[in-house]
Amino acid sequence: MNLCDFAPEYIRAIQPYQPGKPISELAREMGLDESSIVKLASNENPLGTSPLALDAMIHALYEVARYPDGSGFALKAALSKRYAVSAEQIILGNGSNDVLDLAARVFLKQGAAAVYSQHAFAVYPLVVQAIGANGISVPARDYGHDLTAMLDAITPETRIVFIASPNNPTGTLSSAEDLLHFMEHVSRDVLVVLDEAYNEYLPEANRTDSIEWLKRFPNLLITRTFSKVYGLAGVRVGYGLAHPDVANLMNRVRQPFNVNSIGLAGALAALDDHEFVQRSYAQNRAGMMQLTDGFRKLGIEYIPSYGNFLTFRVKGDATNTQKIYQSILQQGVIVRPLGIYEMPHHLRVTIGLESENHKFLKSLEHAIGELD
Ligand SMILES: *Cc1c(COP(=O)(O)O)cnc(C)c1O
Repeated sequence: MNLCDFAPEYIRAIQPYQPGKPISELAREMGLDESSIVKLASNENPLGTSPLALDAMIHALYEVARYPDGSGFALKAALSKRYAVSAEQIILGNGSNDVLDLAARVFLKQGAAAVYSQHAFAVYPLVVQAIGANGISVPARDYGHDLTAMLDAITPETRIVFIASPNNPTGTLSSAEDLLHFMEHVSRDVLVVLDEAYNEYLPEANRTDSIEWLKRFPNLLITRTFSKVYGLAGVRVGYGLAHPDVANLMNRVRQPFNVNSIGLAGALAALDDHEFVQRSYAQNRAGMMQLTDGFRKLGIEYIPSYGNFLTFRVKGDATNTQKIYQSILQQGVIVRPLGIYEMPHHLRVTIGLESENHKFLKSLEHAIGELD
């Protein structure tokens, strides 16, 4: 036996998370110029970062000798005002992934269980497995969450249900009506984590009043992020909104300085940059049209999406999908294979700038041509 053999079996069984391939890596591998590469693999904001946030972060750089404000006072105050919740209801995280992890660490243990959907965000099984708890994956319906089946899958040991709406990588949305029905029927002994990372990309008509629901459901945790529409994925800021008692427990487990000072400054400024958020939203709608039009012209099947990405299926078997992925990659466009999501026939593309979407569609057309 060596040291690593003493690590718990459930830790050694974890499949490492596969992030989108970084631009620098592809450039090295293929001998391409970095500036010619289009990365549409990680649902990042193609417009970059809010200029107000950039400015705030540059100023914050001069203060990095100091620890960040571990309470995140200013950001919590701004979120509290924006969403009409108390600061005691907010948990700040090093990305919303950190908040998901905190929820697992507070409410799960070995022998406990968490329910999530097939094809749901890969971080849910990861945080559950890191505790040694049991993950219960519920078959998807039309690629989306089957909330009725998820309700039925809850066992007496279940302490968390993860719901992503919109979900990544399928882009599916659970309706407000279905979510509310779920909340009204789930036991109060189960924490419902409603992951709304793409909330800001939803048209007004598709938004749910989930934050209002916090008043009725002490077992609801809503998670949001600055990584997507706010364009701050690299500095890692996300947050959770919950009942004060839930937030209190999560804040006890949280590392005292889990959110760094540059992230705090950037998030605070980004929250008020309505112009940037609006521009990002509009750009995403236009890019969504461009890509779905392109898919239709190429005869490519796709799953209608409510996020800033589209998941599509190429004809033939999983080997074909892999070939298309490689061919697109060789043409300098990075998309995301979905094998780890039990979707080996699909690829996910993030909606980019008009020129990036164009390059992606051209590379896809070329890749399909190579197959025939
Ligand atoms: C991108 C994404 C997040 C955000 O993760 P961060 O840690 O905040 O960057 C959360 N949930 C889903 C479903 C996502 O796709």
